[in-house]
Amino acid sequence: MHLLDGKQLAATIREETAQAVEEFVSRHGKRPGLAAVLVGDDPASHIYVKNKRKACEKVGMASWLHSLPASTPQAELLQLVQKLNQDPQVHGILVQLPLPKHIDEATVVRAVSPLKDVDGFGPENLGLLAAGHPRYLPCTPHGCQQLLLRNNIEIDGANVVIVGRSNIVGKPLALILMQKAKGANATVTVCHSRTRDIPHWTRQADIVVVAIGRPRFLTADMIRPGAVVIDVGINRLEDGSLVGDVDFEPVAKIASAITPVPGGVGPMTIAMLLHNTLCAARLQIEQRS
Ligand code: NAP
Repeated sequence: MHLLDGKQLAATIREETAQAVEEFVSRHGKRPGLAAVLVGDDPASHIYVKNKRKACEKVGMASWLHSLPASTPQAELLQLVQKLNQDPQVHGILVQLPLPKHIDEATVVRAVSPLKDVDGFGPENLGLLAAGHPRYLPCTPHGCQQLLLRNNIEIDGANVVIVGRSNIVGKPLALILMQKAKGANATVTVCHSRTRDIPHWTRQADIVVVAIGRPRFLTADMIRPGAVVIDVGINRLEDGSLVGDVDFEPVAKIASAITPVPGGVGPMTIAMLLHNTLCAARLQIEQRS
């Protein structure tokens, strides 16, 4: 069994990005920059944003934090997003989700300029991906694809079963892996909470991806020997430990390759965010010149 080490691969991608950032700076005389917007005091969101900003700074990007109280009216948040849309120093805008209940997330996501939408969640970027002309790929699914590709796992022609159809993981991952392009071209099946017999589908897969948020959901009897398993889930148990959506030890015994949790898909998400921010800076510079 081959362990798909996301921590190490993310470090490699960050190094590549850091080098590309320096080339960008010497060419254009400015740094790619990411503005993070955080509303409220959700402790997990604070940690995510802190880690994302730290990662930006480590690769030589500029980063700004706009921290607003939970009571911020939606109109005020939209005003800030508009200001960031117009700021030429800001190439990427990250609005950390979830937002407080009185704010409509879809409205805020749509307000981010498509060229600065480095999460790739907005309708223009998702639409481009669905149409087969991707601009920025959503970070977590892009990280899953990179984990496969850079470990020489054949995606072209593979049977891929994705469990989970969220807008941030399962659905965009299906779109990415079925692109008519090298490093994709998979036959993709997407399962969800209304799928009748999930093991029937997962047992046929060359590659199984689980992204549902249910601890140890995928058990060894649900895969075929030699399958590749990507575990996107992050679940904190009562004893404080972190586990994925895969019953790791028994599944690892029969899988040909598997991601650990933590240290698998998680670190890849931030690495791909940095990658998108650099792409955004390049696109915006090109548009202005
Ligand atoms: P989500 O928005 O809650 O979506 C969960 C999806 O799983 C839904 O499509 C749901 O089906 C499906 N589902 C739930 N229970 C199921 C079951 N018993 N059988 C089959 N399908 C089931 O979750 P998400 O945001 O995609 O996140 C999923 C997991 O990935 C979470 O653990 C999250 O923490 C983790 N995550 C990790 C990263 C990372 O960087 N590693 C990033 C994002 C998320 P329906 O659509 O039918 O409701």
